[in-house]
Amino acid sequence: MDPAERTRLSGLLEKRVTFHRGLNELKHALLSTAPNNDAKLVELLSLVQRVVVLLRTRYANPAAWKASVELLRLAEDRAPSDQKQKCSGWFREATTYLDEGDVEGPSPTSLPPGALAAGVEVAAAAAAANLPLEDVLAGAGVGLAGQQAPASHYDDTGPILDDEARRRRIEGGAEASTAAAATEGAPAGQPGRATALQRAQARMAQQSHLQSAILEGIQAVYRGMEAVARGTEAVERELDAVLEALRARAGQPSAPSRPPASRRVVASLPRRLLETEAQLDELGRDTVCPVCTEAFALGDEVQLLPCKPMQHCFHPACVKPWLDSNNSCPVCRTELPTDDLKYEAAKERAAEEEAERRGAANALSHNEFAYL
Ligand SMILES: [Zn+2]
Ligand SMILES: [Zn+2]
Repeated sequence: MDPAERTRLSGLLEKRVTFHRGLNELKHALLSTAPNNDAKLVELLSLVQRVVVLLRTRYANPAAWKASVELLRLAEDRAPSDQKQKCSGWFREATTYLDEGDVEGPSPTSLPPGALAAGVEVAAAAAAANLPLEDVLAGAGVGLAGQQAPASHYDDTGPILDDEARRRRIEGGAEASTAAAATEGAPAGQPGRATALQRAQARMAQQSHLQSAILEGIQAVYRGMEAVARGTEAVERELDAVLEALRARAGQPSAPSRPPASRRVVASLPRRLLETEAQLDELGRDTVCPVCTEAFALGDEVQLLPCKPMQHCFHPACVKPWLDSNNSCPVCRTELPTDDLKYEAAKERAAEEEAERRGAANALSHNEFAYL
């Protein structure tokens, strides 16, 4: 076989646009070769093997396989006996691939059969066809890339359906980011750009509202904390005022408006020594001193205040401090005479006025009675 012819035929097969022409010329070369010309047949079969490798690695499209079926059937028919089995395998591989394709339909993402073993086949084909291994590997790589191209894939903008969608998505994103960077009120360009600008402005407004809401929430929390602090301060101020009043009152003996009971009168108050059970019964069992709240017992001395209708009884030592600064019974407020002349005079006037008021009322009621 002419080396130039072989190189030309190989070149046709390697290019996609001339692949089908290469198939036909290879087919005619097989048909025109005498069945006993084993040397030329072996050379042609090495090109057929290259076709198989290209089909496995580059052509997922069933059309290329369908176009190659006749060549593979012819190669099996014309192959020398020692190569018949290999050629039969290629033909079965192609028909099996096409049968599966007819049943399931071509799958753009599935690899052709044997693709995983393509590396070994590529090396073998390169050796058989006397092609530089680098060229063959490059061709296989292009084939793999071309085969995977139709499959959907992803980039940082999401799944890409086609180049047009990808271009629109990327340009749309660029427009949006450009619009977002622009200041508000920037002149709107074409409709698409204006829409992107509006979207960006809407996003900025949403972010602004969100930031405002967060800021208001934080401020509300701080206001609440301040209110709690103010409330605590108010309570503390109130307690301070109460404590101050208690301290002031504790330091003062009493209100100066009322003088203490007369020492002479207090000294003359009747006392009784409880010497008998009969005296306790008369006083009343379980009767207690109102100051120390202890029940009177045999041997106790009691002091009687001039209360009416019942005289209140105290331990003399218990009631003396009270009467030293007060002029009335601790229980019923019955007043005792004092040594304060002004106070006694005022009390006397008040008593006279009260008596006059009562006398007038009595006279009026008497007159009414008289006229009846
Ligand atoms: Zn007492
Ligand atoms: Zn009393």
